Amino acid sequence: MAILVQKFGGTSLQSPASISKVISHIKHAKEENYKLVVVVSALGRMPDPYATDTLLSLIDRSTPLHAKRETDLLMSCGETIASVVLSNELQNNDIQSIALTGGQAGIITTSDFTQAKIKSVNTTRLLEELDNYDVVVVAGFQGQTSTGEITTIGRGGSDTTAAAIGVALNAEKVEIFSDVNGIMTADPRMVKSARQLKIVTYTEICNLAYQGAKVVHPRAIELVMQANIPLHVRSTYSTETGTLVTNSSIKEIPDQLITGIAHMSSITQIKITNREEMHRLHSEVFKVLADAGISVDFISISPTGLLFTVPEDYTQTAVDLITNLSFHPQVTKSCAKVSVVGGGMMGVPGVASKIVQALTEKGIQILQSADSHTTIWVLIHEKDIKGAVNALHDTFQLSQVIDQGIK
Ligand code: ASP
Ligand code: MG
Repeated sequence: MAILVQKFGGTSLQSPASISKVISHIKHAKEENYKLVVVVSALGRMPDPYATDTLLSLIDRSTPLHAKRETDLLMSCGETIASVVLSNELQNNDIQSIALTGGQAGIITTSDFTQAKIKSVNTTRLLEELDNYDVVVVAGFQGQTSTGEITTIGRGGSDTTAAAIGVALNAEKVEIFSDVNGIMTADPRMVKSARQLKIVTYTEICNLAYQGAKVVHPRAIELVMQANIPLHVRSTYSTETGTLVTNSSIKEIPDQLITGIAHMSSITQIKITNREEMHRLHSEVFKVLADAGISVDFISISPTGLLFTVPEDYTQTAVDLITNLSFHPQVTKSCAKVSVVGGGMMGVPGVASKIVQALTEKGIQILQSADSHTTIWVLIHEKDIKGAVNALHDTFQLSQVIDQGIK
């Protein structure tokens, strides 16, 4: 029995017109003889009545202690409602279906309310219902602890639910439907000539997703990657197949040096220089920041000091903690991180120099840089983002599919 997992985002279930598109995708998959698990997000966006943020606005979340547990009880209702609405619509279209909560679908999580991790998927019930019905609709974004407490798995988590179920059932593929046509070479609101990618590797999309390209939740990619299950990013409003995310051994992957560019703003750069107390500086600063739960990035350690970034919202807390250690941080707010991602750059000389050249030609100052096998990151001033992303998109000719090997 070939199983297909489809996930529909909140905007795909926002109106009767979009729900009818959802139904036609499900019908089409059924005609292709798939057994279907359909994962749904909450209906619409704030201020739609059952969207996640609308539900959250009903309570005062500053109340401590058991608040997070109850926040999860509340938030999970959004997806539960969506699963019933879709199942009802399927039945109206003569498609046999049943709606299940995450817990009923066998999703067992840790008890970190609002940020729970999926520990396992018990497929017994899912397999049973797949025998009885054409379609099993599962409420995304939620699960249950081993003691039956309802949890949610972090914002945007329905993609992860779909991936986890796809892996547990060894599905033929997982399809993520939303209102975009697929994965683009850059944010199309920023780069006019951004092009839709036909095929990308798991690693590339993971890097793009972690670095601010909001297409698929990176955790979902990690899950399908481990099980080598193909994932398609598609539009609810089109019959096009969108972008295929797969492993790098697939030979249709074009010989592109760079696949895409992602960006992320609201970052603060912190510099501390202190030769005299170098050892104390190195050992104490990162420790106090870690103890306070502040994640640091762009770390550069040298005999004269430290250079790193923190999310802008944590600037004051970080500065206070560092000042309490009697160090004097120099702070640059409103920075942005631009990530140039491409599986093809591995071992190819000259990529970094092309990036530096493209940015300097536009008068864009690089505050810091870092690299891995498949990504080069630069930190710049936020005001330069649009110029930087466009300059890099042009330099690597991302609007065209070409062989970009650097000679
Ligand atoms: N409805 C949830 C959220 O808004 C989960 C999701 O959309 O995937 O975060
Ligand atoms: Mg969503």
